[in-house]
Amino acid sequence: MESLGFCPDCGGRGFQHMPYTEAYYMAPLDCPGCNGTGSYEHWEENNLM
Ligand SMILES: [Zn+2]
Repeated sequence: MESLGFCPDCGGRGFQHMPYTEAYYMAPLDCPGCNGTGSYEHWEENNLM
């Protein structure tokens, strides 16, 4: 994923699909790893600690 520049948590989509939480099907959650940007750079910044 790093070579592609995509967030490994969401694969660059910027949100995480949770098929088991039907209550949220209308509002996809922003990926917490990259803050919804889908960018590997942002994911790295959030995972340095
Ligand atoms: Zn992400």
